[in-house]
Amino acid sequence: MARKFNFSAGPAMLPTAVIERAQAEMLDWNGSGMSTMEMSHRGKEYMSIAAKAEADLRDVMGIPDNYKVLFLQGGASSQFAMIPLNLMGDKTSADYINTGMWSKKAIAEAKRYITVNIAADTSDNGFTSVPTQAELKLDPNAAYVHYTPNETIGGVEFDYIPETNGVPLIADMSSTILSRPIDVSRFGMIYAGAQKNIGPAGLTIVIIRDDLLGKATDICPTMFNYATHADNDSMYNTPATYSWYMAGLVFEWLKGLGGLEGMAAINKRKAEKLYAVIDGSDFYANPVAINARSWMNVPFTLADAELDAAFLKGAAERGLVTLKGHRSVGGMRASIYNAMPEAGVDALVAYMQEFEAANA
Ligand code: PMP
Repeated sequence: MARKFNFSAGPAMLPTAVIERAQAEMLDWNGSGMSTMEMSHRGKEYMSIAAKAEADLRDVMGIPDNYKVLFLQGGASSQFAMIPLNLMGDKTSADYINTGMWSKKAIAEAKRYITVNIAADTSDNGFTSVPTQAELKLDPNAAYVHYTPNETIGGVEFDYIPETNGVPLIADMSSTILSRPIDVSRFGMIYAGAQKNIGPAGLTIVIIRDDLLGKATDICPTMFNYATHADNDSMYNTPATYSWYMAGLVFEWLKGLGGLEGMAAINKRKAEKLYAVIDGSDFYANPVAINARSWMNVPFTLADAELDAAFLKGAAERGLVTLKGHRSVGGMRASIYNAMPEAGVDALVAYMQEFEAANA
């Protein structure tokens, strides 16, 4: 059985080695006589799995000791409400940078709880760029600054970390976490849904500086309060045990590959190969400013949208699947997260050149 090269934006490919390991451990984890799915989350075996996953993530990302790592549920979408509910404190407004569809969703939800100041907005150019630091209209009294380092749909990625002069910076890293090393200490909080670079869906990771805990508004539901989960090692209620275990296997896999430095080199190369084909032809196009191009999500259009169906059909015949672009953008989108082998990108590049030669 050949595994396909799956370019889905998420849930996305997982490393084959990780799935094989999970398969080997499926019926009997480490002599326990049960699968990790069947274990009590409070039992000694599962607790060891959970603690190792956290330790490995801390190691891989270099997370400082004054940050808590939470293993939550509810997706990145729940964070859109949890952020204002937990972080507004005695402030009345928060700054949001709007660079695309996911920023917009975060903004719309935050507005239910707090006054939102749009610090920058790239909708004028169809969300094809990132604002420069100088363009950010930051309010020194804001409760926090929220941004989306990588917009999964637009394929737009910040090439710098905004400087917020002491105001906590909150980042939705759903589609870029673990793609390269980052300086966690620059952030008040980082969050990400798991289903792209972390593991299976059902898990949301929050990395939060400890001075931001314990400030939730009175109306914040217990389950939405970061302090609830920080105080209980993310086991206040039953966590997404299998997804957490799988994430741990992914973190181990990353460590084995030389951590995020190694991953970054591969990711950069993969992205550059794709953009080179797109830029080297009049047949394919990507509208994003060069400095803002995503390493993880590469949207592109064909010169004639009438050819889209044929392109997708030929791709599928070669085992290259889930390339259809988001309905709001059209065209194609190749999501090339950590688990997409370089061979998958090479196969896509070869197919794109072949298809162009046959149809241009
Ligand atoms: N933020 C970004 C940047 C995303 O890409 C996604 C999912 N595609 C979300 C938030 C929403 O995540 P979830 O489905 O986990 O709620």
